[in-house]
Amino acid sequence: MKKRLWIISAAAASVAMAWLAGCQSNQPGGRPAQSGGESIAASEVSMGSNPTTRPDQSSMPPLSPLEKSIIVDKGTERPFTGQYWDFFKPGTYVCRRCGAPLYRSTDKFESECGWPSFDDALPGAVKRVPDADGMRTEIVCANCRAHLGHVFEGEHFTPKDTRHCVNSASMVFVPQGQPLPAETRPTPRTETAIFAGGCFWGVEHHFDRLPGVIEAVSGYAGGTTDNPTYRDVCTDKTGHAEAVRIVFDPAKVTYEQLARLFFEIHDPTTVDRQGPDVGTQYRSAVFCENDAQKQVVEKLIGELKANGYKVVTQVVAAGSFKFYPAEDYHQDYFVKHPGRYDCHVFVPRFKEKANP
Ligand SMILES: [Zn+2]
Repeated sequence: MKKRLWIISAAAASVAMAWLAGCQSNQPGGRPAQSGGESIAASEVSMGSNPTTRPDQSSMPPLSPLEKSIIVDKGTERPFTGQYWDFFKPGTYVCRRCGAPLYRSTDKFESECGWPSFDDALPGAVKRVPDADGMRTEIVCANCRAHLGHVFEGEHFTPKDTRHCVNSASMVFVPQGQPLPAETRPTPRTETAIFAGGCFWGVEHHFDRLPGVIEAVSGYAGGTTDNPTYRDVCTDKTGHAEAVRIVFDPAKVTYEQLARLFFEIHDPTTVDRQGPDVGTQYRSAVFCENDAQKQVVEKLIGELKANGYKVVTQVVAAGSFKFYPAEDYHQDYFVKHPGRYDCHVFVPRFKEKANP
């Protein structure tokens, strides 16, 4: 059953992983120096080399290698080379990858930076995320997460004091009066959760069966050694906990639902122990990806404490840990070894009070 789920979701997972890998890319984005960087000539852009070209009604054509280098790999076209930096006809700019409307020509302004500049986006169309460089703010299509460019504030170009600096290659212009393209199905939006609740075989097994979970991977987190092996972690000296990284579709299952399940399939009240497994590697811990996750976990711990459970779960803040996938033979363990004992038993701790 789980194997089928794995196969079905493999394509989605690979898309998600490609996206995650892209986020970690070290390629520069935004405003490169006038020389150097990857040159993206307008003539090489396969779609819309004529600015009035409108995308196909049903779906957007595949990305050219150069478009992919910007949209997927977060590259940057060379300034003054894109097709829209000096283009001011009335209309709408849509996402090159999914066709979602992003910007209006009425929000476009002349910045002389060499890239199309907008002081606003269509409501909800563009998402801001911290850039991998730790300094700038990246902007992506809210629908499909295509890389668009970067957003800057405080430059005083317009009263809105905001500049969306967008790669021409990330957009297609639709002239005013022409119908907008039908949006293609977006890449599934995914989020990640990491839980440690004793032996990862059982934790992975519980989450992998859950609707909305794209993949659950056993691994190690929270320690001080890089690329630990199972043998290393078993020494109880690496500081790593056996943990499971869950990639999920938040439209189908929420982080809170996952976290609730986590607290009900392992015992959050035993220090460095789950059932027969003893050691710091079997501690109860939640490795948060962001502050929102931390707040959810802290709220749930509050509920459990109100129910009489003396929760010892460690709540680890985002950015302070690394997750390392475990060896292949630990993945899908209970699928490979049916009938093995799993110490993870469901207990409805949010409904039932602790035994005094
Ligand atoms: Zn898009």
